[in-house]
Amino acid sequence: MGIEKCDAVVLRFADYKEADRMLTLFSRQEGKISAAIKGVKKQKSKLRNGAELFALGEYTFNDKAGRLTVTGYDLMDTFYPLREDIVRLWCATLCVNAVETVATSQPEPELFDTLVFALSQLAYNEKASPLACLDCFFIGVLSIGGIFPVLNACACSGEKLYYSPKRNGFVCRDCKEPEYIRLDEKCMGILKNEGLGRDELFEMLTTVDEASLKGLYRVLVAHASYCLDKHFKSADFLDTVLFQ
Ligand SMILES: [Zn+2]
Repeated sequence: MGIEKCDAVVLRFADYKEADRMLTLFSRQEGKISAAIKGVKKQKSKLRNGAELFALGEYTFNDKAGRLTVTGYDLMDTFYPLREDIVRLWCATLCVNAVETVATSQPEPELFDTLVFALSQLAYNEKASPLACLDCFFIGVLSIGGIFPVLNACACSGEKLYYSPKRNGFVCRDCKEPEYIRLDEKCMGILKNEGLGRDELFEMLTTVDEASLKGLYRVLVAHASYCLDKHFKSADFLDTVLFQ
């Protein structure tokens, strides 16, 4: 028996033929899957909303020897407000790009929940900085993927606040590489709490000032890019908006 039904988020789509789309979905039960969705570019299509980026729903499929076609869905959320704020939109795009890079065809419910949490906060939590949402998301992704930066990457006694990708983590001032990112003590304190629940972590991040959140973001994205050997174009775009 093939895949019949699962909760999933649209990570990417590609138009084909006149009105059809191929979706890359990340599902809670089946991991990353591809599925065709037909006729969605027609005005009257009932399936339209479920073929949009970030759409979250319970999708049902027709599975023909492993080729999936969406036959329907119960839409749970489109995270619509993301479309009204360019920074939040690109933050959400970076999140789905990162998940597409790390996800496999194995179920990873924790990663799924981490993504849905990030999209919800970015879309609906106007009080929280988008960077707090992103930092929370990347800490989760790195932790789940087993690629969290090493916090004591040198054996010296000094404080290890200098991130270096070549050392896979943080070293002291004397050991820092020519290219490094210095993190402040507050953010370092947050990283030391790896394993903290997502809600508590997010709560903690919402108390951090914007400059520190930016520093943490730069470290987390640099580390994710390095470990995953993936250049995130959406991060480049965010840089132009966030770091001017
Ligand atoms: Zn050292």
